[in-house]
Amino acid sequence: MPEPFLLKYIHEPDQGDLDAYVSRGGYEGLRRALAMRPEEVVDEVERSGLRGRGGAGFGTGRKWKFLPRDPAVTKYVVVNADEGEPGTFKDRTLMEGDPHRLIEGIVIAGYAVDAHQAFIYLRREFHRARAVLERAIAQAYERGYLGRDILGSGYHLDLVLATGAGAYIAGEETALLESLEGRRAMPRLKPPFYPAVKGLYMQPTALNNVETLCHVAWILARGEAWYREQGPPILFSVSGHVQRPGVYELPLGTSIRQVIEAAGGLRPGRAFKACFPGGTSSAILPAAYLDTPMDYDLAKLDVYGAMLGSAALIVMDDTACMVEVVARTVEFYRDESCGKCTPCREGTVWLSQVLDRILHGKGRPEDLELLDGIARGMTGTCFCPLGESVPPAIYSSLRFFRHEYDHHVRTGHCDVKTAVQV
Ligand code: SF4
Repeated sequence: MPEPFLLKYIHEPDQGDLDAYVSRGGYEGLRRALAMRPEEVVDEVERSGLRGRGGAGFGTGRKWKFLPRDPAVTKYVVVNADEGEPGTFKDRTLMEGDPHRLIEGIVIAGYAVDAHQAFIYLRREFHRARAVLERAIAQAYERGYLGRDILGSGYHLDLVLATGAGAYIAGEETALLESLEGRRAMPRLKPPFYPAVKGLYMQPTALNNVETLCHVAWILARGEAWYREQGPPILFSVSGHVQRPGVYELPLGTSIRQVIEAAGGLRPGRAFKACFPGGTSSAILPAAYLDTPMDYDLAKLDVYGAMLGSAALIVMDDTACMVEVVARTVEFYRDESCGKCTPCREGTVWLSQVLDRILHGKGRPEDLELLDGIARGMTGTCFCPLGESVPPAIYSSLRFFRHEYDHHVRTGHCDVKTAVQV
């Protein structure tokens, strides 16, 4: 298995320091990029096969190619550092542990797409990441890695750190742009206009996730051939009923079982029950899928809504009541819904009420069909991905754990809680 590199220096106490970063080969990728033509940088990133690590998995080089090359058109780079998906914490780890890698990736991206202004949109709660980034940005300005005439290349880029309002919807790329422009974070209609065409201030914008830009810095430092030989790696945020929850760097395609083993395995004496492979917006998978590779092909499974997403593996052992898991998940989306469209605003509230009723011993047999019907009403009708994130948990739990719903409705009690000692 290739050596981890994204997390290689993450635990070094001085990694936020520019001298330490440079002494370990930092900013070599930027030097190499500045010696290339911008189009060559974009081509190299495209050839590396890097796909966005924010959840959608779109090719990064291809995305950059959508931005016009016309030098008369103002372009921006925006970093989505609003990591709000439950169970996802890899970007925060990167920002706190390797801030200059992110800055290097941002400058490379800015040079590649011909932007001279970049923004990091940081989740408000990330106080430590903010302090670390502020220091790193100041150092980068002082030493000529940001600002005018970067490393004597004639290229200039300014970088602003902006904090969001701490709303999950602000992580949706168009809602993020609304927030960055000073308005409430509510999604914009797309198509027809994607951020690469009309983004920040309606100008073409390269909008990338933190982990994606850290990959970019490594790709330019070592070359795309080296990068492809590495796997490529991906950062898994592993949480739930494992012995060592945390961020793990493993090759794309590592099985769910192997990711759990990397995180120390299950708690002693417990059996695996289910997992969200890609955060709570993914479907729930039972034990039959333990050997499924964690890659973009998850979406091809016969389970609606299964996906790699942001690679946030949330593990549940046999102490988890799936009705409760789904109820808490829907509650989260209900609270975070921006309220702009009816299926999401009303559907999440309605689902939550029905699930609570079942959970509290007042469920009716017809409630299971009702849950399925509400989820169907939301599927394909929500304005943005937040609302569309809810039905997969409903469909998959009804398919794989229907007996738990039935038991709750029939007896008014949870068989899991009475069968296991939690
Ligand atoms: S799906 Fe939900 S979050 Fe998205 S626009 Fe509609 S109400 Fe807002």
